[in-house]
Amino acid sequence: MTAVLSTPFNIPAPFTNPAPFTNPDVAELGAHAIPPLAQVVGADECVPLATGETVRYANLDYAASAPALAAVAESVTRSLSQYASVHRGAGHLSQVTTARYEQAREVIRGFVRARADDAVVFTRGTTDAINLAAHATRGDVVVLDIEHHANLLPWCAPDRDGSSRARVVRACATIDDTLAALETELAAAPASLLAVTAASNVTGEVLPIGRLSAIAHRNGARILIDAAQLVAHRRISMAGHGVDYLVFSGHKLYAPFGAGVLIGRPDWLDDAEPYLAGGGASARVALGDRDADAAIDWHAGPARHEAGSPNVLGAVSIAAACEALDSVGFENIGLHEELLRARLDDGLAATEGITQLRIFEDATDRVGIAGFDVDGCPPREVAEFLSRSAGIGVRDGKFCAHPLVNRLGFPAGAVRASFGVGTGSGDIDRLVDALSRLTTRARAR
Ligand code: PLP
Repeated sequence: MTAVLSTPFNIPAPFTNPAPFTNPDVAELGAHAIPPLAQVVGADECVPLATGETVRYANLDYAASAPALAAVAESVTRSLSQYASVHRGAGHLSQVTTARYEQAREVIRGFVRARADDAVVFTRGTTDAINLAAHATRGDVVVLDIEHHANLLPWCAPDRDGSSRARVVRACATIDDTLAALETELAAAPASLLAVTAASNVTGEVLPIGRLSAIAHRNGARILIDAAQLVAHRRISMAGHGVDYLVFSGHKLYAPFGAGVLIGRPDWLDDAEPYLAGGGASARVALGDRDADAAIDWHAGPARHEAGSPNVLGAVSIAAACEALDSVGFENIGLHEELLRARLDDGLAATEGITQLRIFEDATDRVGIAGFDVDGCPPREVAEFLSRSAGIGVRDGKFCAHPLVNRLGFPAGAVRASFGVGTGSGDIDRLVDALSRLTTRARAR
């Protein structure tokens, strides 16, 4: 009988998740198989290969969009049966749906350890959340040049007076030097905000949030953390780390239902004009014949920036993902990811012609992302080969981080494999094996 790695994951009751341990990969892999940590929807989905055979899809593209957790899908399905209009209905199910929507804010607040008075505003995703933050921020904003475009372009857009308020700092070869460069920039001239991505979507390298917050605060700035790539992988404590604003997307948190969040200090948000004008954001609207009679009173709080009918199921799904990940436990998530990442790093290092992308020499933590180049093979060809020959899904290109990927010396882009709680070592081994076949074939050409 095949031995499965006696699970090192201390999965607390009442979380039970038998499905991953029956994953067919586990049986194939022998003594050191690492099973998926949680059940995701579509884990057994099969895809065609160039040969005409089909194979279970190896989804190694979690950083782009993670599959839904089974617990999230169940919660959404349950909510659907009681779904009704939110906020504006007196009917019983409207009340239930409204309560679910508002309850979702509280679950998310608890999950990221936000302060009691932080606003939890639902958005369409991280990009939308950062655009909302940019809309509500006055003054200069300091960013690094290694950011995802979502955390660059909203700040680079011209201010009302036509000038850009983004001050872009070049990341250095080490995290220590990069933090020093940020401190120098913030000390040189006042800035309102430091906006930083906590985990790189190209390399997975994690920046120290607490140290970044301290730098911002001692120089009179607030800090916004783009947690799109971190929130599903590490415990974040807004209060503990001193984070003023946090943004992330549901679809990278196993909740792909079109919602995201901006969480943070309420004052700038309440001072800003509503992000969208419309119903839900307005408390009173009067269109008088005379100018004096005309008045629009806008809500304060999250409703101010959530005009229109909200994405209730998106909000519910994010809250369900938070609860499910809390049940799995971040200690388990971190250990699972470390084991898989070590396996992938070893496999890539042992494959001739593969170079992993790295920003920092001194990064000590990485989430489950590996950006890499295959010598002599254009990234799109690599990704297509992996798909057609092994049923593996990865991402290729510049990952919406053009300045970073160019700077790292890959103007034609790179390939990115990324994983999470639904990944087992079988997927990683399949990738390494396919890359080995590809590079051997490329060398023989
Ligand atoms: N920030 C980072 C670090 C990302 O990786 C991404 C998406 O890949 C985004 C922001 C944008 O997220 P979304 O497309 O969900 O708005």
